[in-house]
Amino acid sequence: MIADYHTHTRYSHGKGSVEDNVLAAIAGGFRRVAITDHGPGHKFYGVRLEKFESMRREIDAMNAKYAGRIEVLLGLELNLISLGGETDYPSGRAELFDFFLMGYHRGVFPRSGLLSFTILKRAPEAISRNTRAVCRALDRYPIDIVSHPGEYIPLDITLLAKAAVKSGAALEINASHPAITPEQIRLAKAEGALFALSSDAHTPGRVGDFGAAERLAAEAGLTEEDIVNAEGLAGERFWERIRARRGTSD
Ligand SMILES: [Zn+2]
Ligand SMILES: [Zn+2]
Repeated sequence: MIADYHTHTRYSHGKGSVEDNVLAAIAGGFRRVAITDHGPGHKFYGVRLEKFESMRREIDAMNAKYAGRIEVLLGLELNLISLGGETDYPSGRAELFDFFLMGYHRGVFPRSGLLSFTILKRAPEAISRNTRAVCRALDRYPIDIVSHPGEYIPLDITLLAKAAVKSGAALEINASHPAITPEQIRLAKAEGALFALSSDAHTPGRVGDFGAAERLAAEAGLTEEDIVNAEGLAGERFWERIRARRGTSD
């Protein structure tokens, strides 16, 4: 594993600073670490809009300070906020971010119809409604990783995998929210999906700790070529995609 693309800091509800996570990633021998705090649509721990610029400056300062040792990325973990697939994507300021994760979280400011996510969530129609919402978000926004699919709301993994392959997003296997099953991972892989193993660390000590995610990936029979933050071609292509986006927004 060469990167952890999902870690939190005090900018949302993590316990450490950006530099704490960077130092933990260096100690773990990683080439890249991403700071991916919660999008502004979260009621309790979304990053405040007025912090965006200072976050960017802090990431740039980290890259200058630790040049040659690690590359630090600024991402944002977007919230799904409507059944139509809207998110709290920061339109107009997206160029401040290197890439985006997106997932459903409780406690967001809904735009419309959000109750349907949480009520009757085990009903068959809820699964297709949820899946449609996530797939629409993949259509609408440049999302690179779907956070913890299946956590909080059940999804049709095959349909999600098809949409993710089309949009180029990786599906996450999250060590802190290991909601996806080995069977679902195998179904998604059969559709050609790629995966990101993440710590979703909320404390610096957990940065790069993929424990439960690695066990799920192994049980499902994934190899480095299925994983965008492992050493290999899949990882190279994923990194190229992020770099290309950064290049155009500079
Ligand atoms: Zn999350
Ligand atoms: Zn997270």
